[in-house]
Amino acid sequence: MESNDIKIYEFEHYKNQSSIVHGIFTRAGGKSTGAFNSLNIGINSGDEQLTIAKNRKIIIRKMGLTPFVFLNQVHKDSIKVLKKDEIDLSKTDLSNIETFTADGIITDIKNVSLVIQVADCQAVMLYDHKKKVIGNIHSGWRGSVKNIIGKTLDKMLLKFGCRPENIMAGISPSLGPCCSEFINYKDEIPKDLWKYKSKNKDNFNFWKISLDQLLKKGVKKEHIENMEICTKCNTGEFYSFRGEKTTGRFACVISMV
Ligand SMILES: [Zn+2]
Repeated sequence: MESNDIKIYEFEHYKNQSSIVHGIFTRAGGKSTGAFNSLNIGINSGDEQLTIAKNRKIIIRKMGLTPFVFLNQVHKDSIKVLKKDEIDLSKTDLSNIETFTADGIITDIKNVSLVIQVADCQAVMLYDHKKKVIGNIHSGWRGSVKNIIGKTLDKMLLKFGCRPENIMAGISPSLGPCCSEFINYKDEIPKDLWKYKSKNKDNFNFWKISLDQLLKKGVKKEHIENMEICTKCNTGEFYSFRGEKTTGRFACVISMV
């Protein structure tokens, strides 16, 4: 593989869903250099805006479904319910991009790509295969504490009549239990989550927290897939804020056809 080739990871269970088009991009195949090498899509990462715009177009061209909806992610728990009158479905060109401020997004609209940008945080992709509703969540440790996963599931049920047993979930590469040390956890993490801490270290298992948040809302275990790739252990392929400090954001995209 050429170093500048795009590489995309996919969830096994979404590969078999004919209505789902999705992809976890790595850092390969973009235009950014230095610490941001190379497919950085994060506007607030400190990289050059023109280069980020070029990288975003590379991703849009590869996925092929517009409009592309990015989120201005602020580590809170607001969830955008995307409606038809908020986007232009008639345009199919690469510049058809919308941005909303939220950390989760759900929709029943087809041919719209929902993007979460991450560098250690989890992108959690949801799909109700009966109601045909998709979602994409940005859940870092603050999102885990706020249970944005549970709140997004609640909203899918409320707004679209989804049922948890029909919802599939995929957890992107993100900070693994191997690397998620929280030395100030007594100030940062509420007590009810301390059971996810390692016995001998201050490491927390945010993968298990997300799994439990999904299970608690009724998502079936066999419908949950975690890639279990730690970003900090794999900075050659993925951006990691903890591993690199100055770094980019990789793209996790889901859409429905
Ligand atoms: Zn690790």
